[in-house]
Amino acid sequence: MGDGPTDPRRRVPRTDTLLADPRLAAASATFGRDRVKAVVARAQERVRRGELRPDEARDAAVAALPAPGPRVVLNATGVVLHTNLGRAPLSAAAVAAVVAAAGHTDVELDLTTGRRARRGRDALDALAAAVPDAGAVHVVNNGAAALVLAATALAAGREIVVSRGELVEIGDGFRLPDLLESTGARLREVGTTNRTTLADYAAALGPQTGFVLKVHPSNFQVTGFTSATPVRQLATLGVPVVADIGSGLLTADPLLPDEPDAATTLRAGAALVTASGDKLLGGPQAGLLLGDVDLVAKLRRHPLARALRVDKLTLAALAATVHQPDTPTRAALHADPGALRNRVERLRDRLGADGRKAEVVPAVAVVGGGGAPGVELDSWALSLPERYAGPLRTGEQPVLGRVVRGRLLLDLRCVPAEADEVVRAAVLRVPGDD
Ligand SMILES: *Cc1c(COP(=O)(O)O)cnc(C)c1O
Repeated sequence: MGDGPTDPRRRVPRTDTLLADPRLAAASATFGRDRVKAVVARAQERVRRGELRPDEARDAAVAALPAPGPRVVLNATGVVLHTNLGRAPLSAAAVAAVVAAAGHTDVELDLTTGRRARRGRDALDALAAAVPDAGAVHVVNNGAAALVLAATALAAGREIVVSRGELVEIGDGFRLPDLLESTGARLREVGTTNRTTLADYAAALGPQTGFVLKVHPSNFQVTGFTSATPVRQLATLGVPVVADIGSGLLTADPLLPDEPDAATTLRAGAALVTASGDKLLGGPQAGLLLGDVDLVAKLRRHPLARALRVDKLTLAALAATVHQPDTPTRAALHADPGALRNRVERLRDRLGADGRKAEVVPAVAVVGGGGAPGVELDSWALSLPERYAGPLRTGEQPVLGRVVRGRLLLDLRCVPAEADEVVRAAVLRVPGDD
């Protein structure tokens, strides 16, 4: 009965016809054909149920397309700060602060006096309180911007003295020496790739010196016959020492003994510390500048500071992060391997004995984001056949793992425990072996 020629289901527009609509075709290019097909299937279903006329299906599908914007992905790579996945995820407190700050706020107004006030003082005050060794604090768009501002304001037309062992490429082809020279400062390279002594620095100093730069080699290690000159010694040279610590630790973390932190570096005598907000601090993308009152004032008043000014949403997230530093990044770094193993075992058990060849395996997670290259974090992963990698990445809820020797590892260290169920559902959507 149901499939006679007058059956209304016969009038459901064909999938090909709908996908040929230019708007849906364009959306396929943006969001992937599978996602748009799912939207089309829902519109067809509504026609079938009599909720839409067949000629309305097209517009209904277009209206139901996802809004353009980044896809939310689950990071099961075991890389805590994955630059391609947006580095640090914000804490719930920081997210709430961003949402609240999206409207009008007192970002640059003192409500008591009704006058203009220092922009983003909540974030600046929180940073100053967290690092009392800093005389003053300034925030710009990212770590690279912090270096550009320091180089421009303190060394344009003059020299930055830096070790040959610290001329770092940060990623995607961007190199700190090029960045620094783009400001009009000249680099005065001293020492060698593996060894640079205090005397090397001292011999290069002169009236042309703007500052001595110390760069933390965050994303590589040099071992063997090596020697670097610590900030404590550089601070005896009588010129300002600017230390790019990279990772944004405000105070020392025993888990990461080789990562410099702002407080210790300032106490060692650095005049200025630069760092990123979205690495180990676990906050929004930002460049932190902490240090000497007069130097920070000079940076803050430099014309370029206006071009590197940070957004009110970032300032709100940063204030919340510094105030309440229990971030997802910290949780991922300090996650207990035993607890991770339990979660992975539960995940495997709840996938059912359906021949998915899922195994529970030990894994090694890393800090990532160009930080702590020598640190290995013991972790646990669900191991699946490699063929799961593509469908999980392109599915309705993308899950990113890492492929190791023909297996896809889903490391739960950076997946919030409440998302384990989402991982399970995503794995179950991948057709199993027959
Ligand atoms: C990450 C990093 C930078 C760049 O910081 P961004 O916030 O990515 O701009 C600069 N220097 C060092 C040592 C770094 O680790």
